[in-house]
Order: sequence, then structure tokens, then C-alpha cells
Amino acid sequence: EAKKKGKNTIEYYNDIAAFNSFKRMDMEKNLRAEAANSFNGFEVYYQPVMNVLGESPKCSGAEALVRWNVPDMGLVSPGEFIPLAEYLGLINPMGNYILEDACKACKSWNDKGHPEYSVNVNLSVVQLLQKNIVKIIDNTLKKTGLKPENLVLEVTESLAINDIKKMKQVLGQIRNLGVGIALDDFGTGYSSLSHIKELPLNEIKVDQCFIRDIGEDDYSCAFVKMVGELADALKVDVCVEGVEEKEQYEIIKLLNLKYIQGYYFGKPMRLYEFENQFL
Ligand code: C2E
Ligand code: MG
Ligand code: MG
Ligand code: MG
Repeated sequence: EAKKKGKNTIEYYNDIAAFNSFKRMDMEKNLRAEAANSFNGFEVYYQPVMNVLGESPKCSGAEALVRWNVPDMGLVSPGEFIPLAEYLGLINPMGNYILEDACKACKSWNDKGHPEYSVNVNLSVVQLLQKNIVKIIDNTLKKTGLKPENLVLEVTESLAINDIKKMKQVLGQIRNLGVGIALDDFGTGYSSLSHIKELPLNEIKVDQCFIRDIGEDDYSCAFVKMVGELADALKVDVCVEGVEEKEQYEIIKLLNLKYIQGYYFGKPMRLYEFENQFL
């Protein structure tokens, strides 16, 4: 079955079967049409990432988060269509489109007076296991003129651990281009601390579930603090995701963590809105 759908389709997207079938078939039809139409219905949104180490928070760039505007369905969230795109073998062309959009956007920020801004782009394991992924990234950098050090690729922990040896090798090659690697959603999924030290990481992103009740829950607070210490020991940056309240922001400040991303500083927004607010 997996073979029929494309070489890189991975079997554990079985939860796709749990999809309500009418909606799923509709989405599948729309997604195929979208792919045939060069992903014109897709729009990459940008969420600011703030460096909060200094006196006042400073934008350091953004994370690219894709949105899909489906006729008759409205805005569909990536949590729904990314697994489907993987299952259908459409994630690679879609991912290339997103990567190029993000690199182009960041290059223009760098040219417009913010040479330090970087852009984070999510890559699923299917994308990482493409034979020519390193070449694709390199070509996209050359085509858009973005400097490798201004690109960070985010991989999720559960996926990164799936085939640790292969993953280590691919991520190593990507790192050799000068591109950064961030471990996304840390603390969820199949976390294994022993793997963390083996992966060539530049950044750890703490999953937002730990921030939600950081003010009330001692465990969450201890966890975030521990990740900060781990990041220091590994000499990687740490980003705290999902910060919505001032109180949460203040706790992160006290813990001396470098980056924050969350609704408190800005939701994912359209490119022109990001540029209006942060350039
Ligand atoms: P992620 O990479 O962990 O992205 C962070 C998610 O948290 C985003 O959801 C973002 O909108 C949301 N978020 C950010 N700040 C807050 C906050 O303060 N409160 C709350 N409640 N949520 C916040 P989104 O955009 O729905 O994306 C969901 C996931 O879909 C992403 O998780 C990522 O794994 C995946 N994804 C998104 N865009 C892409 C893409 O271009 N390619 C791939 N392969 N995956 C993507
Ligand atoms: Mg991410
Ligand atoms: Mg995340
Ligand atoms: Mg996530």
C-alpha cells in the first residue's frame, strides 16, 4: 500500500484512516487539484520570534506556517492537511513551495535593514528522507540569495527519532551547508534524551503544552527550566513556544531563556502584516 502511494510514504500515517471519509475525500480531491495548480491556494504566514534576553524584546525573525484556503471549506489548518499531503505523496512539492516562499521573504527582510533576521521552516520526516533534499535546500538558497545562516529547519522530535542514524546523516549534511537545525515540540512524542545529544542541533523548541500552565504547575515550570539548562550544556539556543500571557512571558524572563514565540508577541500573520509590524 505504502509503495503504491509513493516511495517516501511512511506507514504510520495510518491515523489518516480515522478521518471522516466524506470530508477526507473532499479534501483529497481539493489537495490534488491544488498540487496541479502549483499550490496557488496556499499562503505562508509568518509568526514573529522574539529574542527576550536583552532589556526589551527584539524580533529575530519568524517561523513560516502554511495556511490553505479551500473554496467552500475556508482556512484548513496544517495539522489536518500535512498528514494527508504526506499520505498522498504531495508533501515534497508542497514543501518546496513553502521553503522557497520563506527563503524569498527572509532574503527581502535581510535586504531591508534586518540582516540578522532568520526564518524557520518546518520539515516533515518524509521531506527529510527525499533523496535529494540537501540539493533542494542548497538550490533554494542559491535561487533566492538567502544566506544559509539565516535559515533554520525545524524537525519534530517524534519523527527525528524514527530512524536516528539516517536522520543524523541527513541533518549533518544540511548543517554542513551552514543551515541551522531546530528540534520542534520538545517534550512530546517519543522523546529520548540520549538521542538529543547525537543530533546536530542549533536550537530546541519547548512544546507549548508546558507553557500553558507554567504559572500554576510546578512540573511544567521545572521542565522548562531543565530544558534551558540542557540547552546551555549542549550550547544550543532555546525557544519557548505558545506564550500567550504577560505572566508566562515574565516567568520565561526569570528563567533567562533566549527566544519566545507566541500570541503574546504576535500570531502567525500574512507576509505584509509581518513586514508592517516588524520591519
Ligand atoms: P509547530 O511547528 O509547532 O508550529 C507552532 C504552532 O503553534 C502553529 O500552529 C502556531 O500557529 C501555533 N501557535 C503559535 N503561538 C501560539 C500561542 O501562543 N498559542 C497557541 N494556542 N498556539 C500557538 P499551526 O500553524 O496550526 O501549525 C501546526 C503544525 O503544523 C506546526 O506545528 C507544524 O508541525 C505543522 N506545519 C505548519 N506549517 C508547516 C509547513 O510549512 N510544513 C510542514 N511540514 N509542517 C508545517
Ligand atoms: Mg515548528
Ligand atoms: Mg512547535
Ligand atoms: Mg507543533
